[in-house]
Amino acid sequence: FTKDRYQVTRGDFSQVTDADIGQFQSILKNSRVLLDDNDTQAYNIDTMKSVRGYSRVVLKPKTTEEVSKILSYCNDRKLAVCPQGGNTGLVGGSVPVFDEVIVSTQLMNRIENIDELSGTLECQSGCILEVLEQAVSEKGLCEHKILFKKNDSNESSLGMPLDLGAKGSCHIGGNLSTNAGGIRLLRYGNLHGSVLGLEAVKADGTILDLMSNFKKDNTGYHLKHLFIGSEGTLGLITKVSISCPTASRAINVAFLGLESYDAVLQTFLAAKRDLGEILSSCEMLDKDALDCSLNAYNLRSPISKYPFYMLIETSGSRMDHDEEKINKFLQYVMEKKLVVDGTVTNEPGKMKAIWEPRETIGTAMFKDCYSFSYDFSVPLKNFYDLVNATKKQISDLPANAFGFGHLGDSNLHLIVQCKEYDSEIHRRVEPFVYEFTSKLKGSISSEHGIGFLKSKYLQFSKKSECIDAMKEIKTFMDPNGILNPYKVLPKNVC
Ligand code: FAD
Repeated sequence: FTKDRYQVTRGDFSQVTDADIGQFQSILKNSRVLLDDNDTQAYNIDTMKSVRGYSRVVLKPKTTEEVSKILSYCNDRKLAVCPQGGNTGLVGGSVPVFDEVIVSTQLMNRIENIDELSGTLECQSGCILEVLEQAVSEKGLCEHKILFKKNDSNESSLGMPLDLGAKGSCHIGGNLSTNAGGIRLLRYGNLHGSVLGLEAVKADGTILDLMSNFKKDNTGYHLKHLFIGSEGTLGLITKVSISCPTASRAINVAFLGLESYDAVLQTFLAAKRDLGEILSSCEMLDKDALDCSLNAYNLRSPISKYPFYMLIETSGSRMDHDEEKINKFLQYVMEKKLVVDGTVTNEPGKMKAIWEPRETIGTAMFKDCYSFSYDFSVPLKNFYDLVNATKKQISDLPANAFGFGHLGDSNLHLIVQCKEYDSEIHRRVEPFVYEFTSKLKGSISSEHGIGFLKSKYLQFSKKSECIDAMKEIKTFMDPNGILNPYKVLPKNVC
């Protein structure tokens, strides 16, 4: 149904034959070539259930050399390939559109080295983000350990520089390929900064060893950046070297209720001013966003109902210092009546209970319903105008719009929720939301990427000369266009 819904035509690629299957089976062992419909189905459908391919084969390499042999073979045969990590992507980039061969990194899950001194982690690209967080924490005492042990330990340890709601399933290779942001980007910056090196396999099977354990390495073109955020269209990432920050010893989380979006903005300004270097997360949710996760998972709200909520986290190294700062901040915003209700805690169980409704919105929005999910960078002063304009745009249709997101990064997630996929709602919302964002000089994809679902709207964020330059890079890296066709670039999509 992807073909009919999105009017896309299959590229001029070969079809997988029994002889091809035989080749794959000789490169991998039989058990790592999935052919049965029951086994391949989940790999063909994305997490939002908005894109469904019909690939007959899923390949599960364990080593870089196997990936190299697979891609080299597919390139010679002109077989299209879809690289897949944890399949949690939200733009339909991780599943085939037609019959592309799926190369899953699920079995490339070896941690190769953790160096406490430099804070460097080296691993294969199929490692699950949460597994890596646990592994680096075991080198001492990291943020997550702090959550469940004491706050006053003198040990120091490592944490991962990124964290997101899908951490239990997403792979580090998928994170790099989408340049994932998440809830701590405000503190640690994006992956272009924290990835020290990587290894990737080009479409023709050439292995590019760009691994490095240093922050500083000015030896010519910074090729690793080509692969960060290119969503599997320029190569398949096989290994990663990433800089892990020292874990914070003191964490506080506040959940605040506010009456207006203007109060949200003023509270954010006060948080930046009063919390400064210890501010590690600043999230906003509107009432319907919070209700979405509370209702889906039967959770309790940390406070009573308000039109807007903010979740503010601080991470520092001394609890008494940080508490003093957060108390001063809270006193200011309450006295100014910017915040009308709130709760603050440094108890591990309570912090988890506050984060839970925010972190589960990403899955709650697909539970028993259909959601059109958007991810914009917009100027903060217009951040919520987009939600209001969308609500108006669909006011006569059986749908609801709500907003939440990483306010501290100007990153709004806009959700349009309805019972099931509805083409009229789809037509009403797109391209409306992209045009609105473009007029504000915003970005039509803040952190999720372009994938399949947004490729035809790329021109709302990139000038034609820039899209042409992207196409030239694609042609240079992958002349036969076998890697993730129909994704990112607006080719082949009517
Ligand atoms: P996949 O979904 O499998 O793939 C994503 C893209 O990368 C595809 O184009 C795929 O072809 C390509 N790819 C995957 N692995 C490789 C590889 N090894 N080499 C080359 N290309 C590859 N995203 C955020 O940025 N911030 C958030 O806060 C956030 N929260 C989320 C919360 C939930 C509940 C969910 C479901 C998703 C969320 N996401 C978020 C989106 C998603 O989790 C991220 O995009 C994540 O980085 C995808 O990783 P993955 O391993 O699942 O990749």
